[in-house]
Amino acid sequence: MTTVPRSPAAGLQGSRCSGCSAAAYPADDACSRCGGRAEPAGLKGAGTLWTWTVQRYAPKSPPYEAPPGGFEPFAVGYVELAEGVRVAAVLEVDDLDDIRIGMPMAVTAGQGVPRARPATEAEEGS
Ligand SMILES: [Zn+2]
Repeated sequence: MTTVPRSPAAGLQGSRCSGCSAAAYPADDACSRCGGRAEPAGLKGAGTLWTWTVQRYAPKSPPYEAPPGGFEPFAVGYVELAEGVRVAAVLEVDDLDDIRIGMPMAVTAGQGVPRARPATEAEEGS
């Protein structure tokens, strides 16, 4: 019997410029900072919450599909990764009242839209 972890390990596939070393997400062939060539690069997904808001009404459908239990308000925000990139993500938190700017977050690619959850202590130190 295998145990499925509640949250996948943090990490995203982005790119990094071979000229100025700027990271990007989503990945791009060209650097938006200097125009240099960028190569695929893994991003750790560790960062801090830069800003956020709560989506209190159902987004337009399609592409949004309400979950089986119906629409529930959810939080979205930008997480500033250690690599310097700000990534838009759905915030996976147990309680919307627990969200704070600057809180450590772990970002994963998710399905379509990146997902961010509060980082564990081990992830904060990585
Ligand atoms: Zn560059």
